[in-house]
Amino acid sequence: MLRAALSYVDAGWPVVPGAMPANPRRAGRVWTLLGGGPPLECFCGQPDCHWPAAHPLSPDWADQHITTHQAATFWWDRPRGPLPNIMLCCGQAFDVWTAPGHVGSRTLDLMDAGVAPPAPVAISPTGQWHFFATPDRTDRPLRVPAGFGVTRLGAGCWIPAPPSDRGPAGRDRWLVPPHRWLPDAPAVAAAWSAPRAGQAAARTVDPQSPPVTPPDHGGRR
Ligand SMILES: [Zn+2]
Repeated sequence: MLRAALSYVDAGWPVVPGAMPANPRRAGRVWTLLGGGPPLECFCGQPDCHWPAAHPLSPDWADQHITTHQAATFWWDRPRGPLPNIMLCCGQAFDVWTAPGHVGSRTLDLMDAGVAPPAPVAISPTGQWHFFATPDRTDRPLRVPAGFGVTRLGAGCWIPAPPSDRGPAGRDRWLVPPHRWLPDAPAVAAAWSAPRAGQAAARTVDPQSPPVTPPDHGGRR
């Protein structure tokens, strides 16, 4: 976990410590992930926790970005006790475009061949695909056609970073790890704007049984 946190700091990606799965032997509320995943108790203990083991520890996280080795080492180099998960802070060094799994896999197919291979992509254990791109700071933010379940996470949002621990669900992981290069947002969004993208979505979405994807990202908390 420390190595990952340091790599994000080195890349200029701000992080904050995140909630982790609670000790399963401790009495407390147990949440079942939407979609029928294994039960997960969140460290925060809040009965209305919407992002179990997937949100910043501090409500003031937006003002506590970690950008140095010293601060990262303080949080993620501990000899004992559970380590906090890692939350990446969006909107400063990158935006994240998050999509349900069935859309995410097709997105890679539809992205330009010059963009897709090196574009960083993380996959959550809850089935969300996270596409990293340069922050969209234009006056007219890109919009994704309705029906894809795609959401842009910019300033004021966070995303659980690999290898965050989601308890029985598993860990966040990189499908394509970052290599100090990000595609422009339009290059990523183009995959959802192309006419054939709509056809692909129509082929992969069964309206009778839409895939359920639990929320595993969020905005300001
Ligand atoms: Zn929580």
